[in-house]
Amino acid sequence: MNNDDAAPLLFEPMVQELLEQRGIREENIRQVLAFARAGKMFHLQPATGHCLASFNAGKVTYWLEYQEEEGGCRIFTAYSHRMKILEGYNLPSKQQPVETGWICAKCEAPLAIATVKLTYLDETFAVDLPSCPLCQRVLVNEEQAVSKMALAERMLEDK
Ligand SMILES: [Zn+2]
Repeated sequence: MNNDDAAPLLFEPMVQELLEQRGIREENIRQVLAFARAGKMFHLQPATGHCLASFNAGKVTYWLEYQEEEGGCRIFTAYSHRMKILEGYNLPSKQQPVETGWICAKCEAPLAIATVKLTYLDETFAVDLPSCPLCQRVLVNEEQAVSKMALAERMLEDK
């Protein structure tokens, strides 16, 4: 385990290219990592050992999927969204419970689907997303962020 905030970031070239396209810089990644490491604020997928953390930097929330290794921190992907998660407003979902495969590292509790409130440009939405039943921290996966949320953001901007 290398939890040093100055430890190298390890990328495959394809990942590096993707992050460039998405406008995600090393300082954004390091912000997410510093926040995740300081308070165990990340989700853990026990089957792969991958961690997923987020950091809200004002207008943008950055997400990072990574794994701590001997020689640094391996970055699998990163993405962002502008829609804000309203923390603390989660409600039980009407969906059938599903195994999300992720646990909250801080609470050591399996994530469960909850109805989460999101807000963007004065509009509020309720969306079913995995979240921690104890601290309510939400998990936004890559598909959700780069397709569904991005589409909703563009529609609201064009209004
Ligand atoms: Zn939690």
